[in-house]
Formats: sequence, structure tokens, C-alpha cells
Amino acid sequence: MQMGETCEVFSFNDKLLGHGAYSPNSQIRVRMWNFIQEEKIDNNFFLSKIIYANEFRNELFQRRTNAYRVFNSESDGIPGLIVDKYNDFLVVQFLSAGAEFWKNEIIRILISNFNPKGIYERSDSSVMKLEGLEIKCGVVYGDEPPEYVIIDEGQFKFLVDIKNGHKTGFYLDQKINRNILSKYSKDKEVLNCFSYTGGFTIAALKGGAKIITNLDSSKSCLDVINKNIELNSLEKNKSENIECDVFHKLREYRDIDKKFDLIILDPPKFIDSKANLISAARGYKDINYYAFQLLRNGGVLFTFSCSGLLSTELFQKIVFDACLDAVREGIILENLYQSPDHTISLNFPEARYLKGLVVKVL
Ligand code: SAH
Repeated sequence: MQMGETCEVFSFNDKLLGHGAYSPNSQIRVRMWNFIQEEKIDNNFFLSKIIYANEFRNELFQRRTNAYRVFNSESDGIPGLIVDKYNDFLVVQFLSAGAEFWKNEIIRILISNFNPKGIYERSDSSVMKLEGLEIKCGVVYGDEPPEYVIIDEGQFKFLVDIKNGHKTGFYLDQKINRNILSKYSKDKEVLNCFSYTGGFTIAALKGGAKIITNLDSSKSCLDVINKNIELNSLEKNKSENIECDVFHKLREYRDIDKKFDLIILDPPKFIDSKANLISAARGYKDINYYAFQLLRNGGVLFTFSCSGLLSTELFQKIVFDACLDAVREGIILENLYQSPDHTISLNFPEARYLKGLVVKVL
């Protein structure tokens, strides 16, 4: 049997349970497509899943944005398939043997239903190794994406580098949180840690922030912030970029007694296996501890973790611990999650990875 091919799955007493994709190299030997005996796995199966997923996003966003996750893997019924829409380009990831097996059919479905200018593959996730798949990036249909594709989120516009950006180019998962942050920003002195290309920077400036400092270790990401400021017709002199290690910079600020009204902590994933949960927890504790020390009385912390292996409960405990050690008192104003286009199926709760808290310090 070929890798990714559809197989029937039987119970111990020979009852047909459903169909799945055979994955000889993975610990998960078969990823189930369905639990329906009569349903065939063919073009129509994939077509109906993709159409349904997109219709529901259109209802959700009322077409007020031209950038969203069209399809989110297990939670939309095709394990291993990610489709992100950036204006008139689609970015696809085929991360499982089954998704890879059906790749040509899926691309055909995307072309005929979205009529994109181009489809770009970014199958470059580390999980592919476990599945025995090779990394693949490049144009799979139509035009090559330009250096930057401009996306419109309604309130904000952003430049997205589809070919080289993080993930598939941009942090679409923070979409709803950008809107929330904007409301907390008026007249505030803001510190945006792990800023990437300035998703939160633009949201803060649009919300009327007095001044914002962006910290990131990547100069090329910081440079895009200035371009995004221009794109949104915002004032350049209200934003400053510092290329640095956030861990060091926060300590430095503490040592000189620097203060802010609003701090954002949106670090990269610290945990990729259960084995490094403890050291990662220390990392989260560290940055939150310093952030609490840098906030003025009445200040607000937006703190996130995108590590799926860290539970919401444990994350909250870490933030509490950091607050306690900083000798501050905090109240949770809001619980934050990934945007709803990053769906979480009830039968796949592991899909919930992004969590955040808005904490006001007294
Ligand atoms: N908040 C961003 C996404 C953050 S992604 C958004 O909403 O778009 C994490 C960012 O942290 C990346 O841009 C990466 O370059 C940066 N980074 C990773 N480790 C860092 C460190 N130790 N110090 C500073 N920046 C770091």
C-alpha cells in the first residue's frame, strides 16, 4: 500500500469503523478521514470540506478582511491541510501523508473555487519529518507572490512576505487580539516585545498610543514595521525599533527603572516537546516577571503563549507566580485565544494552542 493511500479501518471484531490515510513512517499509522462506512474518500469528500470551511469563515468575517485561515487541518476535517488566504494569493501546507497524497486534487479544488492569482506551498514545518515527508516550498499554481502582498483586515493593513515570513507569512491567529489591544492603547506608552512585523504596533498606533517601542531579535522583521506604519498612514515618529534579545532588554529596563503603561509579550513557541516544559515555563515566568516590574500602577499586560503543550491553566499559574514575585497585584480583564478561523474541533482539542491574558496591575 502506498504512503497516504486510503485504507479501511476495522475493529477487533471485523466491524468497518471508517477510512483513513496510511502513514507508514508516523507513530500515528493511520489518520482517520471519517467514521462513516458508506462515505467514499474521493474528490467530493475534499471539495465539500473545503467549501464548508470557507463559507463559515465568510459568515464569521462578513468579508471584512481579505486575509484569513481558510482551512485548519484536523479541525476542519482534513488532517495535515492548512490553507491561508492573503488577498488574492493562497498559501498551502501539506503536512500529512494523506494530505500530500491528495495534493493535486486539493489544488484543483482551490483553483476552481477561489480563482487565486497564485498558490504558494510552504510545507516547511518540523512535523513533516515525523511523517516521513520532505520539505517543499514554491509556486504550485499561477504567479509567484511579490516581495510583499498587501492584506486588509478592515481596521489595519499589513505587508506579508509569503515566501520568507514566519508560519505562512503572518500571524493571522492574532487577528481578534489586535482589535482588542487597539482599544487599550489610547494615550499609552507601549512596549511591544517580540514584535515581528508589527501586527500589534499598528493596532496600538491606530488605537491612539502615545508612543511604542518594538523589540525583536530580527532586524529584517523590525524594518517591515516602518513599512507597515507608512502603509497605514500613521506617524513614524511615534514608533521606535530596537534589535535585541527581549530577555536582556527587559532586565536592562528594570535596572534603569524604565516604566510603561501597556506591555505586550508574544514570544515564539518555547515548547516543542513535553521534555522541555519546565525550562519553557521558566522562560515564560522570566519575561512576565520583568514585565510586571516595568508597568506603572494601573498599567496593562497583554501576555501570550502559543505553546500548545502548555495548558491555559498552567499558563495562568505562571503569570500569577511572576506577578507575585514582582510584588504586584493583578486582575484578569480578559482571556484571549486564537482567532476563530483557527478552528478548534471538539474532537480535536489539541488544536487550541494560543492563549493570552489581559492583566491590569494595581
Ligand atoms: N507578536 C507578533 C508575533 C511574534 S513571533 C505578531 O503578532 O505578529 C515571535 C517573534 O519573536 C519573532 O519575530 C522573532 O524574531 C522574535 N524573537 C524570538 N526570540 C527572541 C528573543 N529572544 N528576543 C527578541 N526577539 C525574539
